Amino acid sequence: MIRYGEKIAVGVSGGKDSLVLLHILNKIANQNNYKLIAITIDEGIEGYRNESLSIVKEFCNNINVPYFIFSYDELFGINMDEAIETRPSKKTTSCSICGTFRRRALDLASIRIGAGVLATAHNLDDYLQTFMINLFSGDVDRIGWMYPQPIEYHNGLKKIKPFVELYESEIVFYAFHSGIAFQSDQCPYMHESIRTDFREFFNNLEKIRPGIKYNCFNSMNKLSKIVKTFKKNINVKNSCLICGETSTNQICSVCTTIQMLDLDKKNYYD
Ligand code: SF4
Ligand SMILES: [Zn+2]
Repeated sequence: MIRYGEKIAVGVSGGKDSLVLLHILNKIANQNNYKLIAITIDEGIEGYRNESLSIVKEFCNNINVPYFIFSYDELFGINMDEAIETRPSKKTTSCSICGTFRRRALDLASIRIGAGVLATAHNLDDYLQTFMINLFSGDVDRIGWMYPQPIEYHNGLKKIKPFVELYESEIVFYAFHSGIAFQSDQCPYMHESIRTDFREFFNNLEKIRPGIKYNCFNSMNKLSKIVKTFKKNINVKNSCLICGETSTNQICSVCTTIQMLDLDKKNYYD
């Protein structure tokens, strides 16, 4: 995943997964001679990010890794609290808006700091939940985008997910064992997402059938690969007519979201 001398942006939210990822990458950085930079995305959710920003700052200072903060406000001209206020309906969940913005924000931030690699701490549980969300919302294209793992390329940026085969519980265990303090505040919008339901579903299943999450992961990966191969033949990659980013539609998901929020502000939906 990582080559000698590369500059790696690590997406660090202040949660356990991303701090553990930074901790481990930093431990093996010297012998592999790569450079790490932490990036934190501030969504603009009142009272939620403050704790994590100070945790990331202290953590990075302690291990001597430079860090940068980028906000939705500066990148997209709107923060999450405003987006929640202006969204046309609650059918558009906060997490779907936030996830769309975060993916792009991490790409833009990595490119701005001159990193060739973006490492994120998505774990096996995240992967299963995302697969189910895409499946249950009928978004088959996105199932195809989930493959290949763990390496993906975007506009010259190599995107890696080193934890994608690890259970969330293993990462929590590592964090406690290593004495890593992580964010305790929960996002006030997290219960809007069906992700929480899938998390509970899989954890309950794993309790009575240990290993089932890993079996699911392998099956979902295979399905994702099949969808990707099939879709590659019918989906033409275009550039978004507004921002120029790669998109399978004429307008990319970020610009569609921004338009949707602006349209609502102008009462187009009245
Ligand atoms: S829980 Fe949803 S709204 Fe809150 S930070 Fe995460 S993705 Fe964004
Ligand atoms: Zn766009």
